[in-house]
Amino acid sequence: MHRGARPGKLERGWLAPGGVAAALAVGAAVAWGYGWRGLVVLFAFFLSGSLLTQLAERRAPRRTARQVIANGGVAAVAAWLGAWPAAVGAIAAATADTWATELGAFSPIAPRLITTGARVTRGASGGITALGTIGGVAGAAVIAALAQLVRPRGAAPGSAALIAAAGVAGMLGDSLLGATVQAKYECPTCDARFESGNRVCHEPVRLTRGWRWLDNDGVNLAATLVGAAVAALGSRH
Ligand SMILES: [Zn+2]
Repeated sequence: MHRGARPGKLERGWLAPGGVAAALAVGAAVAWGYGWRGLVVLFAFFLSGSLLTQLAERRAPRRTARQVIANGGVAAVAAWLGAWPAAVGAIAAATADTWATELGAFSPIAPRLITTGARVTRGASGGITALGTIGGVAGAAVIAALAQLVRPRGAAPGSAALIAAAGVAGMLGDSLLGATVQAKYECPTCDARFESGNRVCHEPVRLTRGWRWLDNDGVNLAATLVGAAVAALGSRH
């Protein structure tokens, strides 16, 4: 492909070099655990997320290893350990969160904080819209249906409804943590808000809320853990 032709398009939704290595590691762990069945589910997450990012025409920076691990690390470990419901529950959570974010960008109504209902700027962590939430539920349902379709023989039984619920629980957990304990920063001069601590606006940004060590990647990782836990615990009954 001619790299110079459409630089914006080629960069969008793609992976940074470290992200490629991390994605290969996640793919290898999932393949080792569940072969093509696991890869089909993982690929559905990756492909749908990339397509929606393009649809939203968001100039997302290329994903780093940290971001790939935050979204796929829990699924990789679960697949490697042979825990099918946990693995697909984690992927359902990552998918729900991605679809909610990308489809929520089309919401005509400004997002509101999941905790207090206060209006927040678009893309702010912890903010939810009706459209994004419906999109997230649809994303979890698609992964759940697909996971049920390719479910390996002998995997712990779990209904598609359970996997979808696990994905939605992960998405809600993501919003709750994003609204409460995720680190938020402000420029001391102009009050512009940031979600990353190593930014300089008029001067270096200052922590105004949350835990300094918990950034968006940490929250994503926690959300996939919630998805994995709900699916694993639910499939035991
Ligand atoms: Zn400023």
